[in-house]
Amino acid sequence: MAKYQVVPKKGLGQNFLADANILRKIVDAAELTVADVVLEIGTGVGALTTALAQAAGRVITVETDRTLAPLLAEVLAGRDNVQLVFGDILKYDPAALLPSPVTAPKVVANLPYYITTPIIFHLLEAGVPWQRLVFLVQKEVADRMVSPPGNKVYGALSVMIQSYCHVELAGVVPPTVFIPRPKVHSAIVKLTPRPREFSPATARCFSLLVRTVFSSRRKNLYNSLRGIFSQLGGEANVMEALRALGLDPQQRGETLSPAEFYALADLCGKNLK
Ligand code: SAM
Repeated sequence: MAKYQVVPKKGLGQNFLADANILRKIVDAAELTVADVVLEIGTGVGALTTALAQAAGRVITVETDRTLAPLLAEVLAGRDNVQLVFGDILKYDPAALLPSPVTAPKVVANLPYYITTPIIFHLLEAGVPWQRLVFLVQKEVADRMVSPPGNKVYGALSVMIQSYCHVELAGVVPPTVFIPRPKVHSAIVKLTPRPREFSPATARCFSLLVRTVFSSRRKNLYNSLRGIFSQLGGEANVMEALRALGLDPQQRGETLSPAEFYALADLCGKNLK
């Protein structure tokens, strides 16, 4: 970094990993073999990229900060299985970055903290048959991702992520392993997508239901949903769906599990054009 006068940019979430043990833990969580194609978001100064390239068959790594190009040219020199792409991941279709055809690619990333959730949803909603996604995120975000109902950090992020994936915590990471050190702890999360198809109507109802319920978490289901009955096929449709699922309109929406949100969205969605 000194040689290329790289000064980490706070605004881009540049906290670079500088610890061989943690790099190994992240790579282990991805269970890589030479048959794997891996997409990495945020190359940084290439520490994780190098570790991934040693374990996987092919690594495609996307970095928004073009000033890192000279340093990365040296760090990644001779790594023939690494393809470095400069740009904002949110502006790319992830499928278009991967070789075609590709079977069950993986994602591994130490994510920039300021756009963690937009990047995760961008990847999950890309229609790519991911086999596994391993992320290093702020511990507070990891806690919300894995939380069951009834916990005070259970919210829209928990429901959305858990309905797409099985989520596991694979380790807590202290600030000391980064340059520069962040203020908070981080955690490794391992996501395994569920083989579940969201029809467009189900997906629309699902995201509407989740956003509405958690924007007024203390309201019961009836009061929470009355403002969006028309978008869910009408009050009778919603009441019938609740009855069919054995849910009580008087219970708080925040008590619903991800599976119950999904089932409710699916039943409501079936009566929508
Ligand atoms: N992988 C490296 C490591 O583990 O040391 C760097 C991780 S650092 C937390 C996040 C990286 O993501 C930074 O290098 C930052 O420039 C990059 N980044 C930030 N926003 C991005 C975006 N929208 N698209 C692609 N990369 C981005």
